[in-house]
Amino acid sequence: MLKPIHRVNCLPALAACQRLMQRFVLWLCDANVHGTDVTEANLRAQMPSTIEGEWLCVLVAVDQRSTTKTKKLLEDAKAIADLPAQEKQGLKQWVQAVANLSQHFTAAPPAALPIDAPNGWKKQGRQWTSFKALMVAFYEEGLRDGLPYQSNGTPTADTTLRVTYKQFEREFRQAHRLDPHPDAREVCVLCGGELKLPAVDHWVGKAAFPLLAVCADNLLPICGECNEAPQKGQRPVHADGNFTDWFHPYHRHSSGALRLRYDEVAFAIRVDSNDPAHMLKVSNLDTLLNLGERWTREFKAEYRRVQREVEKLRKKQPGLTLDEVRLRLTDYRDRLSDAEPNVDVHRIVAETVLTPARLSAL
Ligand SMILES: [Zn+2]
Repeated sequence: MLKPIHRVNCLPALAACQRLMQRFVLWLCDANVHGTDVTEANLRAQMPSTIEGEWLCVLVAVDQRSTTKTKKLLEDAKAIADLPAQEKQGLKQWVQAVANLSQHFTAAPPAALPIDAPNGWKKQGRQWTSFKALMVAFYEEGLRDGLPYQSNGTPTADTTLRVTYKQFEREFRQAHRLDPHPDAREVCVLCGGELKLPAVDHWVGKAAFPLLAVCADNLLPICGECNEAPQKGQRPVHADGNFTDWFHPYHRHSSGALRLRYDEVAFAIRVDSNDPAHMLKVSNLDTLLNLGERWTREFKAEYRRVQREVEKLRKKQPGLTLDEVRLRLTDYRDRLSDAEPNVDVHRIVAETVLTPARLSAL
């Protein structure tokens, strides 16, 4: 989160889908709705528009390869509708507490996000797995094939206008390109490294919070290394459901609060903040993504590369003076570009090799 993170055009479509998910699950939780009521006709009738109702039917009920084969998701929806009234109430409250995610990132967040499943459900139990499968389907299948909305959140039956996973990823990467040239390297918005093997990350994990699987505030493409364990993976971005001590990519960005510092004794990069108010958030982000360790690795590799360049230069020009080496390194520093991956780390390498002690040791 070194660089600003922007919202992209199609986010209203994701927000509309989030509302649809919520409406669907709250309908299933209605005390008057039972498993037998979960029919295609009712799904069509209960959603805000015919387009959304039709789309939900295909998502939940009808196998797209066959007009008669129903999906397991229909059984999951019926299982939720057949829950005892008290459990429906518990799920409803859980959904309402989780749904309005953005308020958890305000200056004074409300009570913590519930980190356990509702009603004391076991994560392996039928109730939770049914609810999770239903919600995650909106992301896995729904967003992959296209949500029933165009970018601005208006329902559409035109499949060419529907917002897809690919469109979201493309728009996000386009908006965050530091060098607009098509052949330029892209930079990961979280670690500042190269955007290799990018994947759309759920900032708040979808395994624990399936209701947020298509949440506009919760999705961002990041590099494979940031996304995988031992880095982020499924690790939580809150302290027991409380977000006070955590940054958020869209709502509480770390821009300006995070600082890289060179530790001369350890020959390492430390992740720091000038502002005591952000210290804990910086430390949590560092731990979540192993930033200090990864940036130290990059620092050492780049330092070694510069060292090799100087060695090569000296072989070619044996009479090279220290001043001439300094000039070459100053040139290296001045040519570093903000549009390149790891530029913040490389700037520290440049500053370090230009100190008199390091320079004479090269
Ligand atoms: Zn990254």
